[in-house]
Amino acid sequence: MTDVMVDVRGVHKSYGQLEVLRGVDLQVRTGEVTVILGPSGSGKSTLLRSINHLEKVNRGWISIDGELIGYRRSGNRLHELKEREVLRQRTHIGYVFQNFNLFPHLTVLENLIEAPVHALRRPRREAVAAAERLLARVGLADRAASYPRQLSGGQQQRVAIARALALEPKVLLFDEPTSALDPELVGEVLDVIKDLARSGTTMIVVTHEIGFAREVADTVVFMDDGVVVEQGPPSAVLDEPRHERTRAFLSKVL
Ligand code: ADP
Ligand code: MG
Repeated sequence: MTDVMVDVRGVHKSYGQLEVLRGVDLQVRTGEVTVILGPSGSGKSTLLRSINHLEKVNRGWISIDGELIGYRRSGNRLHELKEREVLRQRTHIGYVFQNFNLFPHLTVLENLIEAPVHALRRPRREAVAAAERLLARVGLADRAASYPRQLSGGQQQRVAIARALALEPKVLLFDEPTSALDPELVGEVLDVIKDLARSGTTMIVVTHEIGFAREVADTVVFMDDGVVVEQGPPSAVLDEPRHERTRAFLSKVL
C-alpha cells in the first residue's frame, strides 16, 4: 500500500468547448477523509467520475494505490486499458451516488451480493455472509429481504454504502450522499460515513454539510470553476479561508 491512495495530477476535462476541469491536482492519503466543497457546476462530480474512469480525462492522469486508472504506462507512452481491465479497476473504487442507484428489482441482500458474486466470482455463501455483516454495520440487519422501494431514503442510502463496501474498495467516493434526503434522514447517513472514517476507510466526500466536514475531514478542498482554489485542514479552510472565492462560498452555505 502506498501512502498516497488517490493521486490526481494536472487533470483537464472538457465537454465540447466547455472546460470543466482546468488542471486539478489532488492527493488523498491512505486512511484519510477528504471533503470537497464548491458551488454547483464547479466540476466536483466530473472529478469523482474521472477518478472512477466514468469520464476520460483530456490531459493529466489519476492513480489509485499507485496504479494508473484507465491507462497502462509503457516507456513514456500511455496505452488505454481494455474495458475489462477498467471494470477490474472499478471494483477497487466504491461509488455512492446522490440518488442511491440501487437495483429496484433486487432485494437489499441481492443488491449487496450482485457485484461480489458476478464481478469478483466470490462463492455465493461467502458473499451472503459478508453482506449480512455489512447490513448489521449500517444498522439494517433486519431489512435483507426488503426491496429498495420499501425503505426510506436514508435506509436506501445506507444500503448503497453497504453495497459499495461489499467490494472491499481501496477508496470510497461519495457524490452528495445526503442531498436527496429529507432533513431528518441526513444524520443517519452521515453517522454511517463517520463510522467508516473512524475505522480508517479512505474516502472522498462531495457534500455541502459543513458541520460534517469540520468534524470528519482530514482535508477540506474548495473547488471553483474547475480548479482547486484552496485546501487544508478544516480549521484553516473553513475558519480562515485565504481566498475571496472560498469566503464568498462559505458565507452562503454557513
Ligand atoms: P458539480 O458537481 O460541481 O455541480 P459538474 O461536474 O456536475 O459540477 O459539472 C460541471 C460543469 O460541466 C457544468 O457546467 C455541467 O453543466 C457540465 N457538464 C457535466 N457533465 C456534462 C456532460 N456529460 N456533458 C456536457 N456538460 C456537462
Ligand atoms: Mg455534482
